[in-house]
Amino acid sequence: MVTASPSGTKYEAVIGLETHCQLSTATKIFCNCSTEFGQNPNHNVCPICLGMPGVLPVLNEKVLEFAVKAGLALNATIAPYSKFDRKQYFYPDLPKNYQITQSDLPIGEHGWLEIAPLDEAGQPVRKRIGITRLHMEEDAGKLVHAGSDRLAGSTYSLVDYNRTGVPLVEIVSEPDLRSGLEAAEYAQELRRIIRYLGVGDGNMQEGSLRCDVNISVRPVGREEFGVKVEIKNMNSFSAIAKAIDYEIERQIAAVEAGETILQETRLWEEGTQRTISMRTKEGASDYRYFPEPDLTAIVVGDERLTAWKGSLPELPAQKRLRYETEYGLSPYDARVLTDDRDVALYLEHSIQAGADAKQAANWVMGDITSHLKTQKISITDIPFQPDNLAELVGLIGKGTINGKIAKEILPELLEKGGSVQALVESKGMTSLSDPAAIGQLIDEIIAANPTELEQYRGGKTKLLGFFVGQVMKQSGGRAEPKLTNQILAERLKG
Ligand SMILES: [Zn+2]
Repeated sequence: MVTASPSGTKYEAVIGLETHCQLSTATKIFCNCSTEFGQNPNHNVCPICLGMPGVLPVLNEKVLEFAVKAGLALNATIAPYSKFDRKQYFYPDLPKNYQITQSDLPIGEHGWLEIAPLDEAGQPVRKRIGITRLHMEEDAGKLVHAGSDRLAGSTYSLVDYNRTGVPLVEIVSEPDLRSGLEAAEYAQELRRIIRYLGVGDGNMQEGSLRCDVNISVRPVGREEFGVKVEIKNMNSFSAIAKAIDYEIERQIAAVEAGETILQETRLWEEGTQRTISMRTKEGASDYRYFPEPDLTAIVVGDERLTAWKGSLPELPAQKRLRYETEYGLSPYDARVLTDDRDVALYLEHSIQAGADAKQAANWVMGDITSHLKTQKISITDIPFQPDNLAELVGLIGKGTINGKIAKEILPELLEKGGSVQALVESKGMTSLSDPAAIGQLIDEIIAANPTELEQYRGGKTKLLGFFVGQVMKQSGGRAEPKLTNQILAERLKG
C-alpha cells in the first residue's frame, strides 16, 4: 500500500511480524508441570521451571512434534539437526537468568504462508508472505505490578511463575507486509493454521498468541529500509491493523517534518488509539548466546518427518480454494466457512451426506451460525448433525417442505436433533403441493375478500401480496410458494 504525503512524496511501509504461539501441550517444555491456564499463582511450578541449581531439563517430545507440524504447515524447511541455546538476560520473570531458546539453528526456516484479503469486488488478492524462521523456546513468568501510590504508581511487584517454561514457537516473518490490513490478515491466517493443526488455541486474550510488529517507512523506489520501530501490546487483530496504520501516519509525518525516527519500542494504547514510546533501543542487545549444555541436539529423522507430514490436515488456504472450485461458493463464503475448522468439517460432512453445497452453506452461515452465537456454543455442541442438515436440504429440494417451514422447525431441530422427516410428519407440516387443493383454498379466499378482488382487478396489482399472505395463513405456511403464486395469478385475472 502506498501513502501519499502532503509534500507529494509517496511512501510505503515495510512491516514484519514476530509471533509467539503457545503450543497446547498438557505439560511444560522441560518439566512435567501442568500448563493449565488460570491456576492460582505459582501453583504449576517445580525445581526445574523455577531454575533451582542442579536440575536438568528434558525436552517434551510433544513440543517438538507440534513445532515441526507448524513448520511443515508454513512450508518451512525442517532442520534435520538443530539445538537449544541459552539467551542471557536478567529480569525477575526469568528465575534461571537465562531463557532456553534456539538461536543459530532453528527448527524451521524459509517458509511462507498465503494471505488472501478480498478486494472491493469480493475477489481474493493472494499474496505470499515469507517466513524467515520458526523456533522453539520457553516462556517467561508474569509480573503483576501491585500497590498504589498517587505519584509513583505501583509500589511493588509480584511474580507468577506458572507460565515459566510453557512451550512457545516463535514465528518470524519476512518484511513482506505493507499495511495494517495485510498484517492483520497474516496474523489471522497464522492463528487459523495453528488451530487447524490442533497445536495451539491462538487465544489472544489469554496471551497464547502474541504479535510484535516491526515497522518502518521509506519513499517508494528506495531500496534501503527506514529506521525500524517495534510495536507491542496489541491483543486483537483489529488492534494490530489500527496500530500499524497509526504508526505509518506518524512516521511519515515525522520524516516530512525533518525529524529523526528513533529506533524504539512503542506500545499500542487501546484507550487513546495511538502508540506511545516505551523505551529506545541503543544498538542490538548482547544476549551472549551459547549452546545449552544440559540438552542434547534435536535430530528429526526422515521417518518421523514423513509420518508428521502425512498427518497434516487440509489447511485453510487449500480449503478456501476447494470450496470455490469444487463447491462453487463465492470467495467470501469460502472464507467465512473455513475460518473455524469444525464449521468447515460440519459443512463437508453434510455435503458428503448428499446436501446441495450452496444450500447447506447458506443454512450453516445463516440460521445455524446465529443459533451458535446466541447460545454461545460451538458447532460440535449441537445435536443437529451434518446428516440431519442434508436431510433438511433434501426435503426442501423435493418439495416435501418449503423454506419457510424449514426455518420454523429448525430451532427445535437445533435443540433436539433427530430425523427431520419424522418431525415434519408428526407436526403435519409437509407442504401443500397438490394444485387442486391449493386451487380450492384460493377460491375460498377470493370469495371471502370481494373488495380486495375488485381493487386488484381495478389495477391495484400489489394486492397480490395480500392474497399470497392469506393463502400462507390459511395453510399454516404449508402452501408451496411457486405453485401458489402461479394459481393465484390465474384466478385473480378472472
Ligand atoms: Zn516445572
